[in-house]
Amino acid sequence: MTIFEKIAAGQIPARIVHEVEDFIAFHDIQAQAPVHVLIVPRKCITRITEADVSHADMLGRMLLATREIAAKLGVLESGYRIVINNGRDAGESVPHLHIHLLAGRALAWPPG
Ligand code: 5GP
Repeated sequence: MTIFEKIAAGQIPARIVHEVEDFIAFHDIQAQAPVHVLIVPRKCITRITEADVSHADMLGRMLLATREIAAKLGVLESGYRIVINNGRDAGESVPHLHIHLLAGRALAWPPG
């Protein structure tokens, strides 16, 4: 099991902000912004390049859930960034697909 599957199964604690049948969202343990949430499928897809059309509906709903999570955490008006790190050069460190939601400060662009 990946660390995120263990979180989804309740085996490792996390500060959960949103959960539905097939995905979950929780605060990142090493926040890079005042709001830093990870949105994660309960079943492991290793990374976005391993996803296929059977995942399209869930991936769409994960993206749409960012609005609800941002509203819950009070950053809907100020804005937020969503990021997927795919592969080594992108800085992927956990091989279990996840969307980062970052907010609560002005974020630089381009990213480092
Ligand atoms: P990546 O670098 O793969 O895009 O992002 C992985 C993220 O997972 C990192 O931001 C890291 O801080 C977070 N992370 C790693 N292990 C844990 C954990 O056990 N709990 C939580 N909440 N976040 C974790």
